[in-house]
Amino acid sequence: IPIGNSKESKESPGSTWPKDIIALEPGETAWDVVLKKIKELSDSDCRDAFMVADLGVLASRHQLFRQALPRVSPFYSVKCSSSPWMLRVLAALGTSFDCASQGELEQVLALGVAPSCIVYANPCKPVSHIRFAALHGVNLLVFDSEEELIKVAQHHPGARLVLRLWTQDSGSLFPLSSKFGARLEVCEHLLKSARDLGLAVVGTSFHVGSRCQTPHNFAKAIADCRRVFEMGSRIGHDMSLLDIGGGFPGEEGSDPEFEEVAGVINTALAQDFPKGSGIEIIAEPGRFYATSVCMTAINIIAKKAVLEPGGRRKLLYYLNDGHYGTFRIFSRESEPRMPIVVKELSPKLPLFPCTLFGPTCDAFDKLFLKEVQLPELDVGDWLVFPFMGAYTSVMSSTFNGFSPTSICYAVGPELRSLLEITP
Ligand code: PLP
Repeated sequence: IPIGNSKESKESPGSTWPKDIIALEPGETAWDVVLKKIKELSDSDCRDAFMVADLGVLASRHQLFRQALPRVSPFYSVKCSSSPWMLRVLAALGTSFDCASQGELEQVLALGVAPSCIVYANPCKPVSHIRFAALHGVNLLVFDSEEELIKVAQHHPGARLVLRLWTQDSGSLFPLSSKFGARLEVCEHLLKSARDLGLAVVGTSFHVGSRCQTPHNFAKAIADCRRVFEMGSRIGHDMSLLDIGGGFPGEEGSDPEFEEVAGVINTALAQDFPKGSGIEIIAEPGRFYATSVCMTAINIIAKKAVLEPGGRRKLLYYLNDGHYGTFRIFSRESEPRMPIVVKELSPKLPLFPCTLFGPTCDAFDKLFLKEVQLPELDVGDWLVFPFMGAYTSVMSSTFNGFSPTSICYAVGPELRSLLEITP
């Protein structure tokens, strides 16, 4: 893709939108913003990596979720991307929130979100964070062990507890079940312990693992929840809330598609928690909302060509974002992501195996485990990675003194008025 084909922005140079907000003109896209920024930076000697988030995409993901899963209320999982503008958009659209810590609770409460619209879904919580939740009226808490019940009985006796079940997470790219979830065999004991401690269990939750590739795991977990609902009711709990967790695909064209996963969930809900059963159903989507919101543009800061034994020519590119920046999550994926090369290139150019290194002095600092096939590029050239919104900037560090990649937010007129953003 050549530089210079972006639309000219009509924004006046002196406009005073909030520093990280780019006001989109009608017809202008986030991609236009990326190209414009690349052009501006290329004219200077500072070619820092940057991210552009399209908040309109976030709003359309919300709409898609509500359409495909009409019985399920989304509690956006803040850990996935805690960017303040993203949280503000979601709060304005009426989303609730899944928080994992006091820090996330503070961030969401500061937006004016009602404590009743938060689930504190980390099953293993520090006592001080439980006390913070109690003090601020965040009552919906997830647990999966007797030890957690004892802490909650002491520090948040008025909590409404949700029992997280163990689920099958094979086929998920980021499994969670080795760390969290009570097995069915121990649920009766936990439900009785809660009752004996005077605690109210109101429902069950599960998480099939992030980027679940086996939709049937949702159906199996929903069926397990039904069994535990019956168990809980027999023991004397008022079971009224089902939390189906996260794990939904983040990108269009993923296998399976979100619509397929949603279809499996809707069928399982109709079977085990039919309409009219009076059960409130919630989910904790993270990746589904955030992935396609952001693009990251990074620059080649250094380059080496090496000849491998056998004469294979290999290129090493050194980029200004990497494992210790926004690419950390990709060290868990076996296949590399393909960048968009922002340069006019002949399609006939030969491709070379390329290792993409990040900027630090650590040799582990690679963007991906495997090589990527790219044409020969130069120092100063730009690569753009789409689908960079989930588990990226939240995991950035300042290792080796490199600043986290900056983010700007492209916002169209409708969202600007919803959020009351004015120059
Ligand atoms: N809820 C909990 C408790 C999680 O641990 C996670 C991710 O780790 C999520 C929700 C979000 O999952 P995803 O991004 O796959 O939707």
